[in-house]
Amino acid sequence: SQQSTNNAVKTVADQDAEYIKKRIEADFTISRETLLRVTKHIVMEMKRGLHSDGQTLKMIPSFVTNLPKGTETGSYLALDLGGSNFRVCEILLSTDGTRVRCRQKKFIVSEELKKGTSEMLFDFFADAVDIFIREVLGESTSDFNAEYKKLGFTFSFPIKQTALNQGTLMVWTKGFTTSGVVGKDVVNLLQEAFHRKNLRITAAALVNDTVGTLISHAYSDPQTNAGVILGTGTNAAYVERIENIPKWTGGPVASGKMVINTEWGAFDEDHIVIPLTKFDKKLDRASNNPGKQTFEKMISGLYLGEISRYALVDLMKTGFIFKTKNLEDSLLSKPYHFETAYMSRIERDHSKDLSDINALLGDVFKIFDSTLEERSVVKRVCELVGLRAARLSAAGIAALVTKMNKLDGCTVAIDGSVFEHYPHFGNRMRDALFELLGISAENIDFAQARDGSGQGAALIAALADNV
Ligand code: BGC
Ligand code: MG
Repeated sequence: SQQSTNNAVKTVADQDAEYIKKRIEADFTISRETLLRVTKHIVMEMKRGLHSDGQTLKMIPSFVTNLPKGTETGSYLALDLGGSNFRVCEILLSTDGTRVRCRQKKFIVSEELKKGTSEMLFDFFADAVDIFIREVLGESTSDFNAEYKKLGFTFSFPIKQTALNQGTLMVWTKGFTTSGVVGKDVVNLLQEAFHRKNLRITAAALVNDTVGTLISHAYSDPQTNAGVILGTGTNAAYVERIENIPKWTGGPVASGKMVINTEWGAFDEDHIVIPLTKFDKKLDRASNNPGKQTFEKMISGLYLGEISRYALVDLMKTGFIFKTKNLEDSLLSKPYHFETAYMSRIERDHSKDLSDINALLGDVFKIFDSTLEERSVVKRVCELVGLRAARLSAAGIAALVTKMNKLDGCTVAIDGSVFEHYPHFGNRMRDALFELLGISAENIDFAQARDGSGQGAALIAALADNV
């Protein structure tokens, strides 16, 4: 029959397509029903975390109880340790309260530092501040000390906050394993390093990047109720009412509100709702924090490329792509060599022959003889991993908006390399948010908040000044 003839002449490409469809496609696809369950479960975990310590979602009270009025003034220092960079900025809040000016310098945190000792890491911070004062501000350290500036410290890891300018590291994330920091007050460690370098600077605020992003955006848009990071790592902060935080024992709060750092990267560490692929499991086992940051490992920039790499290696091993290549010789076998930035480049290639993917495979992986079919398989894998990340991020935001009861409207300030650079990420999130809640961009505004975390820390230091 016609049917069997068709089957007989099935090409390799058809089989590829079938394989991708059956195995990879199904494994990476999250249905609307599952995504709804994820959203509901996040809301439930948020409530548990607000109720008591030791839950999957840490729901950390930030001690930030006021949004900026936009009238704060003065000059502040901000230090910002993110996933891969350390930034030092001087921030001037202008007297009319409408503008912030920022002079900054970026320092790369090396892999050795991430694995070194606490003293090495904090000395590096203090040295960076010293360099910044001399080279960027053009001042001598002694003049600077005399002027006595206040500092906001953005430390983008799970910190158990014990005061606005005090808090201990609960656990490292994002590939850091620096010894002697977990369980310590990171402001103390910083002040000790300043002392070793004769810097007289006082930290007035210790801030998570999500909290900083929220606050810095609220400075110009008072509708802002949440701050989200979709970068090397992922997390969200939002404004909660004190009566909804049973575990808060810090006494009355005049505003009746508190910014909460959710630490949503840890969501589903107990594997209750999100279906994991075998690639997610492999990545987790090989990571330096196995069993931890399950949600983060499916969403953030440190990991998306690595998940895709595992899927591509599997396709290669089973002979569906790059058949003539030996896996051991291929750079695809090298952990973390397939960066998330390459996924962005791959997804951006809309040419007929996928020529840029061809160039990238050659330049970066020494694969020079790929077929068009193979390149489209590579692209499809990236799309699946990228789409899943965007949909899970949207589930997180849907949960925040639901918990805050803001379905009729609010602004979510978002920063991070994945949101900023990954093609279609924001639109895929918007589509998923609509699918989940039936609300659109008119209600929930995703505002790109570039470099807000440092400015936010300075603003929080300024707010502390005015109390
Ligand atoms: C950290 C969060 C941080 C996020 C984004 C996560 O790994 O645990 O504290 O906000 O990364 O930088
Ligand atoms: Mg950052």
